[in-house]
Amino acid sequence: MPSKQRKIAIMGYRSVGKSSLSIQFVEGQFVDSYDPTIENTFTKSTRVNSQDYEVKLVDTAGQDEYSIFPTQYSMDIHGYVLVYSITSAKSFEVVQTIYDKLLDITGKVHVPIVLVGNKTDLYVDRMISTEQGRRLADSWHAAFLETSAKQNESVADIFHTLLIEIEKADGNVQEK
Ligand code: GDP
Ligand code: MG
Repeated sequence: MPSKQRKIAIMGYRSVGKSSLSIQFVEGQFVDSYDPTIENTFTKSTRVNSQDYEVKLVDTAGQDEYSIFPTQYSMDIHGYVLVYSITSAKSFEVVQTIYDKLLDITGKVHVPIVLVGNKTDLYVDRMISTEQGRRLADSWHAAFLETSAKQNESVADIFHTLLIEIEKADGNVQEK
């Protein structure tokens, strides 16, 4: 089977670990200080269920509740990784406003999404419970994972899960 091209955007409040998750997935390393203003597109080949994929991963510079959803993230993106930090209630609020804007701008009722609670290694500072994260993801009919970019915990799972969600949505496109 030929390789499928998939474009994914990773979004969320600043400092939640979007770049760290991206670099961990693409390069297999944890970089401690990565310029937060850099917006980068990474390419990575991966295989899920005997299907090869070429993933283009757009690591966005981050959003807050006031950001206008950039239209370039609504076009030709197959699926989204929405990230908060389990240590930041603010980042959990912001991920919900990003989701609302995302649905608004894409005009779709269902978009392939994986909700990610990152920084599980900082469990002593946890502000958002696993249950809260799961409940939010359920309300979106999205997949949910908790990860640690630092410890490379469940990082590849994010992208593999999203590729499966994108496959499920294929041929099942619903417009508002
Ligand atoms: P971004 O602004 O969302 O791209 O966040 P970065 O990837 O630049 O990470 C922001 C800060 O959080 C950096 O200091 C990272 O080293 C740190 N960080 C990212 N992921 C983790 C993680 O899983 N655990 C811990 N302890 N720190 C992390
Ligand atoms: Mg970044």
